[in-house]
Amino acid sequence: MASPAVHCYQHPQRLGIGICVECRQVVCAECSTQFEGINRCARCLAKMAPKKSARSAFHEWGALSVAGALGALGLLFGGAVLVAGWIRP
Ligand SMILES: [Zn+2]
Ligand SMILES: [Zn+2]
Repeated sequence: MASPAVHCYQHPQRLGIGICVECRQVVCAECSTQFEGINRCARCLAKMAPKKSARSAFHEWGALSVAGALGALGLLFGGAVLVAGWIRP
């Protein structure tokens, strides 16, 4: 009794090589993505990856640019005051 061949849920003609841990669908070599040793289909990976990284990256960049702008402004201001103090007798 041969078990039926398991095929990729996105490519019915291709043989599946793994199961996505998120949606439990069979995926072929092209559709499966090993992330930290865990199989995920491209769809689940796309669903979770962009949201997380994009949001955190945006937050980090926003905080960094604000801090950088404030720091630059403070440095500029402090430097100008310092220079003014130096020039004036
Ligand atoms: Zn999946
Ligand atoms: Zn596939």
